[in-house]
Amino acid sequence: MTDITQKEIEKLEEFDNHKLIRPIKKSGSNLLGFIVIHRENPKMPSFGATRVCKYDSELDALKDALRLSKLMSYKAALAGLPCGGAKGVIMKPGFFQSKKKLLYSYAEEVNNLKGKFITGTDAGLQQKDLLVLREKSPYIVGLHTSATKFTGLGILYSIEVTLEELFGSKSLSERTFAIQGLGKVGGELLHLIYNDAKKIFVSDIDKKLLLKIKREFPKVEIVSKDEIYEQKVDIFSPCALSHSLNSESIEKLACKAIVGGANNQLKSEKIGEKLFQKGILYAPDYVVNAGGLITVVDEFEHKVHSEGRVTERVLGIKKTLKNIFEESSKQKRATNLIANEMAEKIFDKY
Ligand code: NAD
Repeated sequence: MTDITQKEIEKLEEFDNHKLIRPIKKSGSNLLGFIVIHRENPKMPSFGATRVCKYDSELDALKDALRLSKLMSYKAALAGLPCGGAKGVIMKPGFFQSKKKLLYSYAEEVNNLKGKFITGTDAGLQQKDLLVLREKSPYIVGLHTSATKFTGLGILYSIEVTLEELFGSKSLSERTFAIQGLGKVGGELLHLIYNDAKKIFVSDIDKKLLLKIKREFPKVEIVSKDEIYEQKVDIFSPCALSHSLNSESIEKLACKAIVGGANNQLKSEKIGEKLFQKGILYAPDYVVNAGGLITVVDEFEHKVHSEGRVTERVLGIKKTLKNIFEESSKQKRATNLIANEMAEKIFDKY
């Protein structure tokens, strides 16, 4: 199925005793990728949205899938959700022979897992793709709610907690922001803070998207993908892909805190420790961006969407983040390490 052997997989740093690693390949539809499950809980299936992305190799795609599914386990634990973590990753083909055919083939692979894996949209997939997947699979979530909207809400709540921690007030009116990536999540965040923030810098690698954003939000200042790190702002918000915080980029940072929607922002845990030493307050990614997971799990549990119930559940992010900040200053240790330990204590219970 894949050129990477089981032995090689188990030797990977990212392996972390994953419960399932399934390569998916169908030449007729260009489908190539992986579905992986990090943790399982007998009470509920494992959740993880599906990402469609360009990768240099199958190994790169597999590593990304493993890192993301592990993160989903941590995210679920700290959001108080009983599901395990999982992920679907599809390697974006050079061109789509037929995107519909590719999505149908993927849905069949999801069905082969007989409900152990529940999925929705991550980077590279849109709401309309979800409808195509749902035609072939009952294990698709996010049709009656918007994962993007609640991810954005969770980021906003996290920004408020972070501003209170830094300045004693959650008001945005004197605060400045730099948003990296203006896709579903970054775009939603921009929409939420635009009218209240003092100044917002933005970057994206998609030039057409930037033109559209500038038309809709004329007060934003567009900067290049490298300049975004250097902006002297209160909050830097990574909302693009993984590992935007690495040893090179953090040297350029001129922000007071980092609060963003992207998954796996830190290239390694050490980067979180370096941010702590530099006095930059880091709000752990999987705590901040749990709103999307919260709403799709709620949809799975209740079948009918309730705006009030989901908003209440997303509000829980505030309390969790406050606890992490409190423990971090008490123990004088980096927030990412504190968050990981809190999640791992929850893992020990089931
Ligand atoms: P998306 O594909 O809609 O948007 C990503 C955007 O980032 C695109 O506009 C892309 O052009 C831009 N981008 C890529 N590389 C960049 C770079 N180097 N600099 C600047 N911009 C760059 O994806 P999304 O759904 O908005 O997800 C963004 C991040 O948020 C991902 O890490 C994803 O895993 C995470 N996330 C998404 C959700 C959700 O509900 N969609 C929920 C939780 C977390």
